[in-house]
Amino acid sequence: MAAVDVVFHRTFTDDRWMNSAACKGLTHLFFPLPAERPQARDRREAAAKSVCASCTVNATCREFARTNHEYGFWGGESEDERHAAGFRLIAPIGVRARNVG
Ligand code: SF4
Repeated sequence: MAAVDVVFHRTFTDDRWMNSAACKGLTHLFFPLPAERPQARDRREAAAKSVCASCTVNATCREFARTNHEYGFWGGESEDERHAAGFRLIAPIGVRARNVG
């Protein structure tokens, strides 16, 4: 496939819903630092979940993350919860990687 074909076949998604995200400026709650400890992850994700609970685009966000196999915390859902719901990460690591078979 030529480069021009790639350009014309690219799928564009409507991400205007992100303008209404309640998590703007709170990236540190939604994505882990390297080598994050389990207890720290639990605290971070609990804080992220509370932000998502009041977000007006929660359902759209969760569907986007599930469809696009996103990493991090989206739509009130952690990577583990998304994985358990059947929406697997493309390149799982850690416990999830050992359970993919
Ligand atoms: S549901 Fe949560 S992660 Fe998604 S846009 Fe809203 S606050 Fe951000």
